[in-house]
Amino acid sequence: MIQLIRGFKDILPGEVEIWQQVEKIAVSLLQDFGFKEIRIPILERTELFARSIGEDTDIVEKEMYTFPDRKGDLITLRPEATASVCRSYIQHKLYAKDPVRKFYTIGPMFRRERPQKGRYRQFYQINAEILGVESPLADVELILLLVSLFSKLSVSDIETHINSLGCPECRPNFKTALSGFISTETTHLCSDCIRRKDRNPFRVLDCKVPACREAMTDAPSILDYLCSVCTRHFEIVNEELEALKIPFIIDKRLVRGLDYYIRTTFEIHTGSLGAQSAVAGGGRYDGLIKLLGGPDMPATGFAIGLDRLAEITGLDTSDLIQTPDIFLAALGEKCRTLAFGWKCALGLEGIRADMDFENRSLKSQMKRADKLKASHVLIVGEKELEEGSAVLRNLTTKEQVLIPLENIIAKVKAKLRS
Ligand code: AMP
Repeated sequence: MIQLIRGFKDILPGEVEIWQQVEKIAVSLLQDFGFKEIRIPILERTELFARSIGEDTDIVEKEMYTFPDRKGDLITLRPEATASVCRSYIQHKLYAKDPVRKFYTIGPMFRRERPQKGRYRQFYQINAEILGVESPLADVELILLLVSLFSKLSVSDIETHINSLGCPECRPNFKTALSGFISTETTHLCSDCIRRKDRNPFRVLDCKVPACREAMTDAPSILDYLCSVCTRHFEIVNEELEALKIPFIIDKRLVRGLDYYIRTTFEIHTGSLGAQSAVAGGGRYDGLIKLLGGPDMPATGFAIGLDRLAEITGLDTSDLIQTPDIFLAALGEKCRTLAFGWKCALGLEGIRADMDFENRSLKSQMKRADKLKASHVLIVGEKELEEGSAVLRNLTTKEQVLIPLENIIAKVKAKLRS
């Protein structure tokens, strides 16, 4: 038997209803806040991700699914969506008509991480991006959206972590201080951190290895190094979150695993997820559009992990698992052909109708109707044909009525809707 690739999974009926509901609620909220859907490809040129996410990041160094296509061009299964959204914004000159754009996109991402609970090699994200807005209010709007979405999805136990990563003005001073601190701790750091500490010391703050985390406990905080513009930006984020009564934690270690962030970064964690506790993350990436060859436009965004969200939502989706409104039990060839016509007509009228295509006994067809949890059965055999009506049975109340064959679709429909 050919099995799934490790770290990949099927989302089967029974579970998929949760995903559909989560996506529906998220899309409706995003649209209420003015976000428009954008659909971007799953494959992009490798260079797009290498340049934007950063060469020294885990994603680019070890996790991308990169391969040459048949002509030898290096292509990559997208590990995240932001770079592609920016590429699209630049390529189609979307900024020319209106620089301020709010986009959302939903789809699979691919990272060759070590699979474990809550961590897959193909996983799904809902992304939201606000392009062309420098104001910290855009960051706050995104955090509000996340917190509101989790509340609508009955996710309890969430913590909003925020930090600022400064900007190219003030970050170098922090980088120097951080490098100085790291050089006193090198004996405790993992080989990845040692290798990256000079080029990108932020990665050391972000490292998940427990010994590295421990060693970095007393590392300097970027918040002590922010320039006046970044300080004010961060203050506004704090003040507005307070005004909106959104509880948050300032987390000086929150640097996130991608290089393009500046100023505000945030993550939502929940206690319900165990080790992989981040369910969403994002931040501001003002330099990215320029870095990718576009105009110098600010931008901010987030990504929600749908796999983790589907696991922890408190939504009761038992009602969403669709069962037939009606099962057509037909006896004999002639009745089966007739019933098949009704089944198709009912389906086109928006009534979920099912039937058995084989020539089975009434008893086994009734069993099937029960198994499918149909709410009604319409029985038609030779006798019913002769008498000019079919029997409609409500499987919950066991009540039976005769439905005349003439204009039966409209009559069944009216009965089911009554
Ligand atoms: P990131 O793009 O790394 O900031 O991730 C944003 C969100 O995507 C995280 O908070 C997770 O919920 C989710 N996520 C990231 N990587 C994975 C993965 N390998 N498996 C499942 N979910 C993931």
